[in-house]
Amino acid sequence: MSKILKRANEVFGPVKTIIKASEESAELAAAIAKLGCADGPCTDEWAGVVDEMADVEITTERLSMLYPTGRDDFEEAVFKRKAFKLKRLEGVLDEYTA
Ligand SMILES: [Mg+2]
Repeated sequence: MSKILKRANEVFGPVKTIIKASEESAELAAAIAKLGCADGPCTDEWAGVVDEMADVEITTERLSMLYPTGRDDFEEAVFKRKAFKLKRLEGVLDEYTA
C-alpha cells in the first residue's frame, strides 16, 4: 500500500496531497455529524463513516510522508501525543466518576 501512496504523492504533489487530506477530514466530520442514532441501528449512516474513515486513513498516511523529518518521526510524534491525550482523558474520567 505504501508504494501506491508514495506514487500518489509523486503524481499529485504536496499541495494537492494536503488539500485532499483536508477535504477527506471534512467529509469524515460531516459523516459523523449525520450519526443521529448512536443507540440504534443506522446502518446507512455508519457506512458513510466507514467510507470516510478509510479515506482519512489513506490521506493522513500520504500526509505523513510529507513530514519534514520523515514518516517515522511523524508516527512517533503522533504516538506520543496520543499517549498524552489518553492520559489526560483518563484524568478527566477519574474526576467525572469520582
Ligand atoms: Mg471521501
